[in-house]
Amino acid sequence: MIYLKEANLEDVQKEYEFITQLPEDENGFTNPNCGCSFEEFTEKILPGYIDHSKGLNLPAGHVPETQYFLWDEDEIVGLFRIRHHLCEALANGAGHIGYGIRKEFRGRGYANEGLRLTIEKAWSIIPEDEIYMSVHKDNPASLKTQLKNGAYIHHEDEKEYFTRVKRPKYIALTFDDGPSDTTTRQVLSKLKKHGVVGSFFLIGQNMTPEREEILREEIAMGCDLQNHSLTHSDMREMSEETIKAEIEETTGRIVSLTGKEPEFFRPPYIYVSDRMFDSIPLIFICGIASDDWIPDTDAAHRARKVIEGARNGAVVLLHDLEGNDATVEALDIIIPELKKQGYQFVTITELVQRAGITAENAKREVYTYTDQ
Ligand SMILES: [Zn+2]
Repeated sequence: MIYLKEANLEDVQKEYEFITQLPEDENGFTNPNCGCSFEEFTEKILPGYIDHSKGLNLPAGHVPETQYFLWDEDEIVGLFRIRHHLCEALANGAGHIGYGIRKEFRGRGYANEGLRLTIEKAWSIIPEDEIYMSVHKDNPASLKTQLKNGAYIHHEDEKEYFTRVKRPKYIALTFDDGPSDTTTRQVLSKLKKHGVVGSFFLIGQNMTPEREEILREEIAMGCDLQNHSLTHSDMREMSEETIKAEIEETTGRIVSLTGKEPEFFRPPYIYVSDRMFDSIPLIFICGIASDDWIPDTDAAHRARKVIEGARNGAVVLLHDLEGNDATVEALDIIIPELKKQGYQFVTITELVQRAGITAENAKREVYTYTDQ
């Protein structure tokens, strides 16, 4: 297993060996400590790494910086640094991230995987909407690693390329009221065509044996199956017992296919009551209204509503009701446009996870945006 681990006192022996085997300066990745003694390392250098990560005892003009060692099982193969924010010198120079891989481990994909993990970490540390990096022109392998991780070349000078990675935005397409016989299949073929996943809020009574194959296809594609009640009734006046039966029956049908309990609930008509919140142990989800339940709205109108409402962490509310052709058509507008704007399409499960929302800490509200 390959993983990043912050510089720490427990691993001092291996960290020391690594640091003293990394060149002092290679393609601009500097390692001023390569010739240090074990004593110097344990007493000064390593505690310095730890302090600088906390913003303590920083050399003049330096910003807080965390050193991560890249481990493969019990061996250190690389070092990755994250500067916590830009200053003028970093913005015009080295940027947020620097890295080096030990010579004998090069050409084995460690730089790619390490940079991927580091970028992922950096998004939760840095305030900027772009990660800045730089790479020497005589190091094409490293440029390739950066481009592979979503960087683009922002500008260059004689010696270096200055690259950047845009902060990813996540959005979840969700579809209500299925499965249906033909429209659900059409929705799935659009998702396939564009290489994205969706989440399906199913009405339990629509999950007939004949439609099981459609649901299996959704699962095979990596889509999510979630709960939209059993009978799609207004649940506000129902007794606790009836509410629970609506949820449990549908959950049971989903579990029998996926082996996994749904975590999300879409209230029919987005009608909610205190009793529903008290009785349903799932996170309530709404979504950007596309007006796609109004028969005379066309694909352009539906797509516009979604695109206007889109932002990082948004849920999109659509319907795979039988005959809802304008929504099938709208997907050909929505998905390419949002991709162009830098969105990644994820399941509702992943979207909510990324926002740190759990069944325990979820608010008693119906989420359209995970940052609401
Ligand atoms: Zn519905």
